[in-house]
Amino acid sequence: MTKAPLTLYLAAPRGFCAGVDRAIKIVEMALEKWGAPVYVRHEIVHNKFVVDGLRDKGAVFVEELEECPPDRPVIFSAHGVPKAVPAEAARREMVYVDATCPLVSKVHIEAARHHENGLQMIMIGHEGHPETVGTMGQLPEGEVLLVETVEDVATVEVRDPAQLAFVTQTTLSIDDTADIVAALRVRFPAIVGPHKEDICYATTNRQEAVKAIAPDCDALLVVGAPNSSNSKRLVEVARKAGCSYAQLVQRAEDIDWRALEGIRAVGVTAGASAPEVLIDEVVAAFGARFDMTVEKVETAQENVEFKVPRVLRIPA
Ligand code: SF4
Repeated sequence: MTKAPLTLYLAAPRGFCAGVDRAIKIVEMALEKWGAPVYVRHEIVHNKFVVDGLRDKGAVFVEELEECPPDRPVIFSAHGVPKAVPAEAARREMVYVDATCPLVSKVHIEAARHHENGLQMIMIGHEGHPETVGTMGQLPEGEVLLVETVEDVATVEVRDPAQLAFVTQTTLSIDDTADIVAALRVRFPAIVGPHKEDICYATTNRQEAVKAIAPDCDALLVVGAPNSSNSKRLVEVARKAGCSYAQLVQRAEDIDWRALEGIRAVGVTAGASAPEVLIDEVVAAFGARFDMTVEKVETAQENVEFKVPRVLRIPA
């Protein structure tokens, strides 16, 4: 049977970012340095394949510090943690390594600086996401107000409109966040904040690459986990950019082939926590069913690298 022709637009950049790469390295190096088990508070990055692989090497994933024995090292995930978590680990005299992405830590520092200057904070983010919980947890309760939408901006009750600052989650939709920031600046003209928002380079680049391919695609697949914020945003960005069938898939086995019948062009990208091996798997699955031509569409080049914490660079 002859295969139908298909152009596969492979977005670049896609997949792993420097913060995810560093966080995974931290767990691997901690296992090398201290042996198994090493405890990890929350999924180190939001990807089941990555987490399962590290679990096989001896990492134990827990949600709270209380679940870790005091005599084993614990690692905090790339999303960041409330200030109370390392403080509690220190009180228990635990060995801990913070794998918070340096770009998330930068937002924590911004929030603390505004607080020291007497400003109340508004955080633009998703309620319950670990990064939002971690950033809000840098300041005392009530000092950070969460807004998720433009509608929230209209109703948020602040202490003093003249004494306000904002920060954002790093993995939001650039366009939606721009609208929320604009609404904040209209309602609170004195609000202080970053020039645009705190969305990181990796989120920005992956969204731009999706925007470049989506209009030419009959379908677009984002390799990523359902709890990965930046992956879910890529699906939304693809739909807004003109590709009505945009779906998140964790593995090739999740692809709904019936929904893809008759397509001539498909886009493939991946969230910042999805390893390249899973993207290869998805591309190969298309290659097995179609007479496929792969076109790489690169909208930016990345050369960001973050060092692992010093404690892991010195021998045990
Ligand atoms: S998505 Fe951005 S903020 Fe999150 S880990 Fe990657 S580089 Fe850091």
